[in-house]
Amino acid sequence: MTWQPVIGLEIHVQLKTQTKMFCRCENIWGEGENTRTCPVCLAHPGALPVPNGRAVEWTVKLGLALDCQIADRVLFHRKNYFYPDLPKGYQISQYDQPLCVGGALTVPRPDGDIRVGIVRAHLEEDAAKTVHVGGEAGRIHGADTSLVDFNRGGIPLVEIVTEPDLHSAADVKSFLQLLRQTVVELSISDAEMEKGSLRCDANVSVRPEGDPALRTKTELKNMNSFAFVARGIDAEVSRQIDVYESGGEVGPQTLHFDPQSGSLSPLRTKEEAHDYRYFPEPDLLAIEPSEELVERMRAELVELPGARIRRLADEVGFELAEGLVTSGRDALYGEVAGDRRGVANVIMNQLAGASVPPDSVNPKELSALIAARERIPRSAFDEAIQKTGDPDFSAEPYVSQESLADADSLAPIIEAVIADNPSQVEAYRGGKEGLLGYLVGQVIKATQGSADPRVVNHLLREKLTPLG
Ligand SMILES: [Zn+2]
Repeated sequence: MTWQPVIGLEIHVQLKTQTKMFCRCENIWGEGENTRTCPVCLAHPGALPVPNGRAVEWTVKLGLALDCQIADRVLFHRKNYFYPDLPKGYQISQYDQPLCVGGALTVPRPDGDIRVGIVRAHLEEDAAKTVHVGGEAGRIHGADTSLVDFNRGGIPLVEIVTEPDLHSAADVKSFLQLLRQTVVELSISDAEMEKGSLRCDANVSVRPEGDPALRTKTELKNMNSFAFVARGIDAEVSRQIDVYESGGEVGPQTLHFDPQSGSLSPLRTKEEAHDYRYFPEPDLLAIEPSEELVERMRAELVELPGARIRRLADEVGFELAEGLVTSGRDALYGEVAGDRRGVANVIMNQLAGASVPPDSVNPKELSALIAARERIPRSAFDEAIQKTGDPDFSAEPYVSQESLADADSLAPIIEAVIADNPSQVEAYRGGKEGLLGYLVGQVIKATQGSADPRVVNHLLREKLTPLG
């Protein structure tokens, strides 16, 4: 039987407002522990929350970018549960009247678009951060001590819940990259998984291909990179298929994926909404976003990344287009002259590989360098790429270099490389074609990178092919 994975996501995005959601504490990452706290976010008795207007505006803006309906009236609710990182004993969240509902994000994929429904996007406050010391990989199991950093407690957090419209780990990865880039371009979050300002949980189930009914899902918690999300989903999909194929049943569970070992371990049985005893937050009034606010946010939307991927895919192919847009490098691509695929390749491979920030590059100078790359020494090109981000970078000294391309100068070097590598030469002649690349590399190395690789390739091939 063929099994179809069914995946829905819950994504948390920390908003980069100046202050927290319900108090005036600074919203900042990486400062000394417990230095950004006050009676409100530490839940001292009698302290009252005041909502952050900017956070409401930005959630509306995100909702519009996700094609959601913006609610006329929004209530905050208390979501009750106990945990040391939650001093109030409840989180202020939204429940049955969220700010944004019923949207979609259309994700370009090589074999066509996928429309991923957005159930809701609501605004809440983040919990504080618990740090476990002494256990493996920061987990509570086996830890000697647990510490709480309340700086994170109360930071505005948007929770985005998707429909179960994703059917592979690769689709999930594309969706997340696109959503992340959308959020970054809206300037509402830095959305960095390593910092925890973008977090993702996945609800995973499988069903026989063609069967419309959904089976029991499990939840994979807090995976902290796109690669781990994909690997975690693949592992859980195989686990569920094994359970069904050996006659068992998948139970509702929350699971932790350990990227080191690739294993899944249960955290707890999954809570239901009624476990949280939601009730309206009595200290806050309902929020009623005005039409003026909604239209002002709509006016701030620019062409979204999904549309740009589709547009660029026609020029440079899907993979490069997706890479350029989701890494924020497509603006530079648009300004650099030259053959489109070549420009895209240089930006995505060489420039990204050298970690050159795209907005530090002068497009004119990069255009000149790319135009010359076929005729200048590889070493000059590579060195220039490393320096393209320098404020006074000029391509001129690099593009005026000539590569060593005449057969007479190269002949003795090629002879020497053949003499020094008898076993590789023999293996190449015996059919190991791939070794030609190794030999070309040796010649280029012997010329300190100045030999023209195409010419060397041609000369070596000629030299090593038996006559007749
Ligand atoms: Zn505070």
